[in-house]
Amino acid sequence: MLIHSFHISKKILILVLLFFILIAITGSFAFFYFYNSSQPDNFDDTSLPEEPIIDIEIDETPDDKNNDTKKIIKWVDFNVTADALNKTATLDITSHQNKEEIKYNWIELLAYLACKNGGNFKNFKSSDLDNLVSKLQKGNTMEDLTSSMKYYNYYLESYSAVLGGMIGDYCVEVTNSENSKTYEEKYGLKAFLPIAKNYSFSHYDDFGNSRSYGFKRVHLGNDLMGSIGTPVIAVESGVIEHLGWNQYGGWRIGIRSFDSKRYYYYAHLRKNHPYNNSLKEGMKVNAGDVIGYLGMTGYSIKENVNNINVPHLHFGMQLIFDESQVDSPNEIWIDVYQIIEFLKKNRSEVYMSNKDTKDYDRKVDFFESNLVSH
Ligand SMILES: [Zn+2]
Repeated sequence: MLIHSFHISKKILILVLLFFILIAITGSFAFFYFYNSSQPDNFDDTSLPEEPIIDIEIDETPDDKNNDTKKIIKWVDFNVTADALNKTATLDITSHQNKEEIKYNWIELLAYLACKNGGNFKNFKSSDLDNLVSKLQKGNTMEDLTSSMKYYNYYLESYSAVLGGMIGDYCVEVTNSENSKTYEEKYGLKAFLPIAKNYSFSHYDDFGNSRSYGFKRVHLGNDLMGSIGTPVIAVESGVIEHLGWNQYGGWRIGIRSFDSKRYYYYAHLRKNHPYNNSLKEGMKVNAGDVIGYLGMTGYSIKENVNNINVPHLHFGMQLIFDESQVDSPNEIWIDVYQIIEFLKKNRSEVYMSNKDTKDYDRKVDFFESNLVSH
């Protein structure tokens, strides 16, 4: 009797098991069917909602001045493509140069586009920009067009922090027909590629790659591979905040933009002669100045040691919305790969200006009239 009932329960057990297997198989088929039918191959991003749900981190910390809370941006995922940077910059610059009635602000245009594509410029379409331009031409204002865009102000503030010093007024040296030098006021791109003109380099998007020296961490910049001694150029005007040895960056120079929102980090400079001899901490530099020379120093507590395998300039950009973010676990470094691609069109030409020190200097003088006295 005991044996008999055991046989029955075993049969039931097998049946129940088969039943569940059947459920599982049909269930997964149904899931794949519905999943695939909701993700067509020709996924059209125009069907994206105007305000897609994205993860934007904003810190609310008490503001001492007025008992209010102030919002600080905690993270920026900068992925605006060189193509989008080029197109919006051209609209901005030509509308100002030609003194057109409607003057475009490239950062506003990009912030609008970011709202359209959910902060992912892989979805960038020229037609979105064309539509925006035609709306502005018809008399709409950016204020009207963006009033219902929830994240417009976030993108505007983030992108202003990244790009705020790149387009504007500047003075540049020109040689007139009598061969005398004068200065000309201009409006345009006033940021330079960090590698001097006529020097070759190569790079790829290596932001976020893993690094093992010291502790496990990710790469927070872009490596520009070139020959040792290649003159390194200040991308933007600013004040030298750090100049000296750092065990990771080797001989490095850190320059803060005048609006204090950007910290430019140039690392692994040349052994023995890393910087332009005239530079010191606290000094102002102009965009396009020669600040140092490409090398392979770093990854050593001991100073002036070449411990990097491939000569390159490590170039990084840190965003600072609040001074508490300067030196903390909450540092915001952005991917500058697309910015480097964009800046290829503005390079500073150099020459050896001092045969004794073998220092280089820029060929064409430049300054920002409102910022640096000359
Ligand atoms: Zn690097």
